[in-house]
Amino acid sequence: MVNAGDNNGVDRVGAEVADKVVAALDRIARGVRAHRQAIASRTGLTPLQLELLRTLAEGPPPEPLTGLLAAELGVSQPTVSDSLLALERKGHVARQPAPGDRRRSAIVLTPDGTELAAEIRAADDVLRACVADLPGAQQDQTLRTLLDLIAGLLRAGVVQVARTCTTCRFYRPGDAGTPRCELLQQPLPPCDLRVNCPEHQPAAD
Ligand code: SF4
Repeated sequence: MVNAGDNNGVDRVGAEVADKVVAALDRIARGVRAHRQAIASRTGLTPLQLELLRTLAEGPPPEPLTGLLAAELGVSQPTVSDSLLALERKGHVARQPAPGDRRRSAIVLTPDGTELAAEIRAADDVLRACVADLPGAQQDQTLRTLLDLIAGLLRAGVVQVARTCTTCRFYRPGDAGTPRCELLQQPLPPCDLRVNCPEHQPAAD
């Protein structure tokens, strides 16, 4: 039983809610992982190869260089190199000199890889539909909350790469409730908050 004004009780309630949020995030992460694994099996890819195709199709950022792709996906560079070689052998990606530095190779999707990436994206429609089923205000609040959570996880070192508004040095929370982007000189209502912004620069700690 929790008494009003009992600090320990309030802390315990807070901890219980935090436990449940972490458990819910775990549940979502497992579901999405299983969903993606099923798509990977169906398309003859490993989960990492699938993530590489998705990342290449959605980026840049990151620039399509092996080291940056490895950092983006939180795996080692040799592991990404092996997966890219396999994708190259399957005809889904190719290499070309990187713009601005011809000694380095940029990874590009082939027409076959582009088609496969579109198929992979379409398979995620079920995830988008579940979010779209929520009332608009709840979708907005969910996005704001998730971006705040990503900022906290970045500070804690759990998330390594974030190009989100709430981790950006140009982000201004805004007194009137609507945040602003100082770089773009525009308000950032929920529909304009970015999850992978090419102009993002990390905020100072
Ligand atoms: S630069 Fe991009 S990430 Fe940064 S606040 Fe502006 S829109 Fe958001």
